[in-house]
Amino acid sequence: MKTDPCKREREEMVEFQIRARGVGDRRVLAAMRKIPRHLFVPKGFERAAYEDRPLPIGEGQTISQPYIVAVMTEQLELAPQDRVLEIGTGSGYQAALLAELAANVISVERLPDLADRARENLARAGVTGVEVVVGDGTQGYPPEAPYNAVIVTAATPDIPQPLVKQLAEGGRLIAPVGPRECQDLVKLVKHEGRVEKIPLGGVCFVPLIGQFGWKGERFP
Ligand code: SAM
Repeated sequence: MKTDPCKREREEMVEFQIRARGVGDRRVLAAMRKIPRHLFVPKGFERAAYEDRPLPIGEGQTISQPYIVAVMTEQLELAPQDRVLEIGTGSGYQAALLAELAANVISVERLPDLADRARENLARAGVTGVEVVVGDGTQGYPPEAPYNAVIVTAATPDIPQPLVKQLAEGGRLIAPVGPRECQDLVKLVKHEGRVEKIPLGGVCFVPLIGQFGWKGERFP
């Protein structure tokens, strides 16, 4: 059996950066102990994969800080039978965690090269149950809707309405919402067609670019 060169770093990441800061969901902690985050970062960054910060993944994009990934994942309250939509595949790391916790995951990425790399990363890590789709995720992914959970991993000026529409009854949606520099992490829960909004604190994400997000490479 292959030994895992980063097992200790990963256990320390979960213990000191995540569990110690209040993320207590045992399934989320187990998934983060299991998924080899170092396989989702560019060559040369493998050790840094377990540090408490985001890292560049090319094309001006990032793999998010492990703690923020953990908070967002916990807040999705995933059950094993859930169907999940992720917007912003990036490295594929968040999608790998979602696949560990839910039945199936559609992950939409705007940049084809990143989508290809994410597919390679997921295959290398032995993750199944994720379909990576290239497209404008602000429109969601209607062919597989509705979803029990939707996670947006890029910053949006407002929550794209197609994503709310594609959320199932009882579904949860998490997104960083606000100005380009830093945003509020927001959770929506759909009850009997109405949407409850829960603020979760400040975050800083790269922009969500598309029809219902920011409108181009340059921002007002
Ligand atoms: N979840 C990722 C991970 O685990 O590595 C990190 C995501 S990164 C912070 C944000 C990603 O959103 C980038 O890869 C970016 O290209 C993508 N993105 C931006 N606008 C998008 C859109 N309209 N649809 C899909 N992806 C988008």
